[in-house]
Parts: sequence; structure tokens; C-alpha cells
Amino acid sequence: MMKKTHIITGVTLSSAAAAVGGISITPIFIIMAAIGSIFPDLDHPKGALNQKVLLINNGAFKLLTYLALAGLMYFYGPKYIDSKLIIFMVIILATIGFSRHRSVTHSLFGAVFMAVFLYVLNSLYGINIIIPFTLGIMTHILADMFNPEGVELLWPCKKNIGFPITVSTGGIGETAVCGIFIIITAVIWLKEFNLI
Ligand SMILES: [Zn+2]
Repeated sequence: MMKKTHIITGVTLSSAAAAVGGISITPIFIIMAAIGSIFPDLDHPKGALNQKVLLINNGAFKLLTYLALAGLMYFYGPKYIDSKLIIFMVIILATIGFSRHRSVTHSLFGAVFMAVFLYVLNSLYGINIIIPFTLGIMTHILADMFNPEGVELLWPCKKNIGFPITVSTGGIGETAVCGIFIIITAVIWLKEFNLI
């Protein structure tokens, strides 16, 4: 799936879920849902965020960059950040470095791990982005399950899991999936405001 598909599905479905759950939707909510919706593709050297992070977009450079960031975080992070968060961040950075595409960052385990990390972040610094960021990740996984390759949803089990109906990246099918998500979201919103 393309970046714009992930951002559209991330923002629309997350805001719909928030509306159903009675959570107010703020600009921060929208931004964090959008970032969460492209976060899982950090495992791909040509993923949207890696286009900004990596100087060279290949697997070896991705590994080196994220291991270097994990090392910097381990040695210099404790000066500025609570040690509990450092442990999480070193694990997350090293995992991104080593991970294959659509494996741990596209799994339920990965989503829960990030939610726990964000919970610790909130408890230490009062930065509460748990719900939008995690919802963004979940919508990314959901959208990628329409890829013919599927995702390793139950990582560490390596079985690729996807929907029986698949679409190829950038094709008309992807636009259709995007459209279906927008319609579902619109219906949820209209119901929330008792307009249908
Ligand atoms: Zn993905």
C-alpha cells in the first residue's frame, strides 16, 4: 500500500474509532494517527519515513543506521531521558534495524509493544498519544492485509496472513479499498451524529 493510502485509512478509521469510543478528536490526535499509520513501514528501507531518515535507502544502511541510533540512545540517552524509556527505545530501534518487511512491525505483538512503550512515555512525561498512534499502526496492518503477500500478523509465527481479497500496490484495487474505508468512516460518523 502507498503512503497516502495508509495516511487516509489511518486518519479516517482512527477518528471513526475515536468517535465510537467517545474520545475527542484533536489536531494532535489526527497527526499522531497519521504518523502511526506509516510507522510500521520503518522496517522497509524505502518506506515513507525512511525516505527522510536514511541517507541511502537500502537494507544494509537501514541496519547500520538503526543500530547506530540504538547505540547513541544507549550511551547518551540516560543523560536526558528516563532509563525505563531508554530500554524500550533501544529495543525498538534495534528491532527496526533487523526486521524483515511486514514482520514484527506489522504484527499484533509489535502494536501491543508500542502501546506499552507509549503508556510508559505517558506515565513518565504526560505525553498521551497512546490511542491515536496505536490505532494508526492497527489501520496500517489492516490495510496491508489486502496485499497479496499479507503480513506476519502473529509474529513470531512467520506465517503471512492476509484477506482473501487482495489488491496490488498503486492499482485501482488500492483506490477501491481506500474508498471503502472512507465510506465506512463516513457511515460511522453520520451514525454518531444521528444523521442516518
Ligand atoms: Zn506496511
